Amino acid sequence: MGSEVRTLNVAVVGGGLVGALVTCFLAKRGHRVNLYEYRPDIRVENSRGVSIDLALSARGREALRAIDLEDLVINHHGIAMKGRMIHLKDGSLKEIIYDSVNKNCIYSVNRTYLNQILLSAAEKYENVTIFFNHKLLDADLDTGALKFIHMQTDEISNVESDLIIGADGAYSLIRRLMIKKPRFNCNQAYIDHGYVEVSYPIGKDNKYIMSGNHLHIWPRGNFMMIALPNDDYTFTGNLFAPFKTLEALNTPENLLEFFRQEFPDGLRLIGEEKLVKDFFQTSPKTLLSIQCKPYHFGSKALIIGDAAHAMVPFYAQGMNAGFEDVLLLDKLMEIHNDNLEKVLPHFSEIRCDDCYAICDLAMYNYVEMRELVTKKAFIFRKYIDTV
Ligand code: FAD
Repeated sequence: MGSEVRTLNVAVVGGGLVGALVTCFLAKRGHRVNLYEYRPDIRVENSRGVSIDLALSARGREALRAIDLEDLVINHHGIAMKGRMIHLKDGSLKEIIYDSVNKNCIYSVNRTYLNQILLSAAEKYENVTIFFNHKLLDADLDTGALKFIHMQTDEISNVESDLIIGADGAYSLIRRLMIKKPRFNCNQAYIDHGYVEVSYPIGKDNKYIMSGNHLHIWPRGNFMMIALPNDDYTFTGNLFAPFKTLEALNTPENLLEFFRQEFPDGLRLIGEEKLVKDFFQTSPKTLLSIQCKPYHFGSKALIIGDAAHAMVPFYAQGMNAGFEDVLLLDKLMEIHNDNLEKVLPHFSEIRCDDCYAICDLAMYNYVEMRELVTKKAFIFRKYIDTV
């Protein structure tokens, strides 16, 4: 028996942040990777409507470093956020630095940009092919067979693979197929709170309208607003609140009255007209948490990223944890010589409980951010790798 590694034919489903990253890692290991993405190529056409910037922390950076992208992401498009800036109702500000000793910080990065550079990095490997507009319709987790439909031509294609990686997000079809298998456990929970995105304009003289090196938080007990800096000197904000509260903001008058009461400084910075326009552009979005176990089926299928552990965004670790999945998978492939019969069960064994915990922490951090941050308790915070 030699220890030679067999070249695997891998099908990655989902070309979001985690799918594009895992494609790079698997290609780097020499495997043949086909990446299937339901949407068109976002480098040509950006049709995505989710939050435009994300906080990148140590977990995510480590994964980017391993494929030589950390410097590009952080130094060219990342914005260092050295701490939280708390906006109290009376307009006063309170700064909470994440790490005053070692000056560690988190980075605000543009989601589309990050996804674009990961897709381009994946495409540089000659053993990678990306199929855009390909929606997974079905898969056989026993054999590794997959069935796709082309979103523009309706053409059906059937493909074979040695390994299916489900990086197809919170509503993962691969996860739904796993649910039909024995001994697969899955909890799905929507929280009663949703969110609406608002944006803060560029300030005078092409500068930020408020500090560009902080994650801004307006904690208000049962709801909150946050804002992250973008590299074009705007901010993207999210108002998180119970659906009951969001649904009551159903006219411009109600919305402006609410902001006058709760976020007077935010309203002044955004401007009334812009707030009304932004707010009513979309309906409030839902927030979902998924905890499941195991993450693999046999030696042919694995789910990672949001497909395995979608979490509420309050710990800012969804993408970061997904990137850490990829690092872990790579390490296990190294340890087990890419033997999937060993790699996949080992991945579930050491990853599921950690991800259960981070989903719970994310839920807890909502209470921390919207309420406790204003109380003395915040000074006991130990971890800087969170928002
Ligand atoms: P996705 O980004 O959802 O990608 C899945 C991909 O699969 C998509 O491109 C989709 O088109 C494709 N797909 C789906 N179904 C199919 C199919 N049948 N066939 C083919 N393709 C398919 N995380 C952080 O780390 N930091 C943050 O600051 C942060 N902020 C957030 C703020 C908000 C408001 C929200 C909602 C989330 C936030 N997150 C954050 C979480 C982060 O967005 C996710 O964890 C991350 O996008 C997960 O990446 P993914 O690749 O697993 O899934």
